[in-house]
Amino acid sequence: MGDQVPIEEGLFTWPSDDPKLIGSECQECSAIVFPAQSGCPRCTSDNTQMKELGTRGNLWTWTIQGFPPKSPPYEGEIDNFEPFGVGYVEIHDEVKVETRLTVADKEALEIGMEMELTFVPLFTDDDGNEVITFAFAPVAG
Ligand SMILES: [Zn+2]
Repeated sequence: MGDQVPIEEGLFTWPSDDPKLIGSECQECSAIVFPAQSGCPRCTSDNTQMKELGTRGNLWTWTIQGFPPKSPPYEGEIDNFEPFGVGYVEIHDEVKVETRLTVADKEALEIGMEMELTFVPLFTDDDGNEVITFAFAPVAG
């Protein structure tokens, strides 16, 4: 049996009881970016600190990825490809995050809808480990 491993170190605080995305916040101008960067893209200060982002936001824009993206960076299974939603979620008062969505149904996605952070298995690597990435899911109701 393999383990579950994050797709990339430093992207999120998973595994955890309450996993969060890890961004960085500029201590000079308060700009927040995700993924975390050591320098601020707004004011070029290097005085930034890691910041755990909120887990809810609004869907800002989205599309359905209907064919396998070019590899790299896509590392999923080309042969068993299934369309998936991708988009930007604007985490409340923080930052827009480019993210995979848990649904790939045009009827189920609407700009502005409330979304919540979740974690999904992406593929199984050569060592038999299940690779986990973050995604956003529509909030029920
Ligand atoms: Zn800054």
